[in-house]
Amino acid sequence: MNKIELTTLLAEDVSGTPTSRIVRSLSARGSLSAAQLARLTGLAKSTVSQTLADLRRSGVVVEAAAEGRPAGAGRPATMLTLNPEAGTVLGALIGLREIKVIIADVSHAIIAQKSVLMDEDYSPADAVDIIRDLATEGYRDHAISRAGLMGVGVAIAGPVNPIDGRIQRASVVPTWAGIDVRDVFGPVFNRPVVVDNESNCAAVAEMTWGVAQGHDDFVLFKVDAGVGGAIVSGGRVMTGIAGAAGEFGHMSINPDGPLCRCGNRGCLELYASFRDNLAIASRRFGRPMTMDDVILLAESGDVGCRRLIEDTAEIAGHGLGMIGTIINPPLIVIGGRMALAGELLLAPLRASYEKHTLVKSRDVNAASRTQIVKGQFTENDSVLGAVGLVLRREGHNRI
Ligand SMILES: [Zn+2]
Repeated sequence: MNKIELTTLLAEDVSGTPTSRIVRSLSARGSLSAAQLARLTGLAKSTVSQTLADLRRSGVVVEAAAEGRPAGAGRPATMLTLNPEAGTVLGALIGLREIKVIIADVSHAIIAQKSVLMDEDYSPADAVDIIRDLATEGYRDHAISRAGLMGVGVAIAGPVNPIDGRIQRASVVPTWAGIDVRDVFGPVFNRPVVVDNESNCAAVAEMTWGVAQGHDDFVLFKVDAGVGGAIVSGGRVMTGIAGAAGEFGHMSINPDGPLCRCGNRGCLELYASFRDNLAIASRRFGRPMTMDDVILLAESGDVGCRRLIEDTAEIAGHGLGMIGTIINPPLIVIGGRMALAGELLLAPLRASYEKHTLVKSRDVNAASRTQIVKGQFTENDSVLGAVGLVLRREGHNRI
């Protein structure tokens, strides 16, 4: 099996042959049994079985490694993946002050992870150079040929226009405003490039590998130095007409409030991000404090740090309650660095949500209650999701 064949199979339309439908499902989900493949593709079990036999003979599909299979009575179903040697995917995060890169293979195994801290307002040219160098290092460290690279996914800290692929003005990375990321990365990697904003990518990571697996409808809500989010409906991340769906941080909750960097007043982010609370904590302790410092102190019982987290949860829950009233989702995944506080954040957040949203828990039975849970990938969610964009053949900016 050569890479060109696999690329072709992955590029074919979903209405293509049984072979391409099975290969695409395996690319999107990682490892699946024959029965799961039949269910996902809608193909007859006999067709799946025959196609898998052909794909295994030609080395495109292999048995997944045994680890992680549930123990129990009876013979477990054989789990299959794409052959990890058939190709790799590069995911990159262009963050406010950091760049991260992950190289994964088509069986969904992570091969290399790299990151560097950046000064604010770094240029697109610098970003491309660094991402290219980190990728080269990653391939070299693991003695893998870059020739197998099948696509590049890019997560960026700002809305991406789904029609022309350009970064919007309201981006938190202003040096990228108006730039089409595909123009920047395409000539360097000479592979398909997909791009989406970092919160949408985080949602892709949670639905591919995290707590939202098997959920076609959910909301991701990120609490960090900013506030962001994503809406997943029918298994797809909603982008909106200009790429700004799910920008929860910029809902104005106080029209007379302070001016936000987006140009509106009283945005949720001004109250629910942890930025101001970090300044308060830094003054109190007489040294620069990080979110991790505050969380650690809160966990060890510091009442002031607990109060700062509870205050953030209260106002974030207010905003989330409004989102709940609009969408009434079955699942809300809390992401961002503050989610590392776990129940210290989530318990008061759930209480605030309950207070501010329309449907109260007591009004409905358990099956109709919105679940609010901590995300699985609070730190690497966006860069993982960039990998997921390519593996799932998603993203609206494919070239
Ligand atoms: Zn704003």
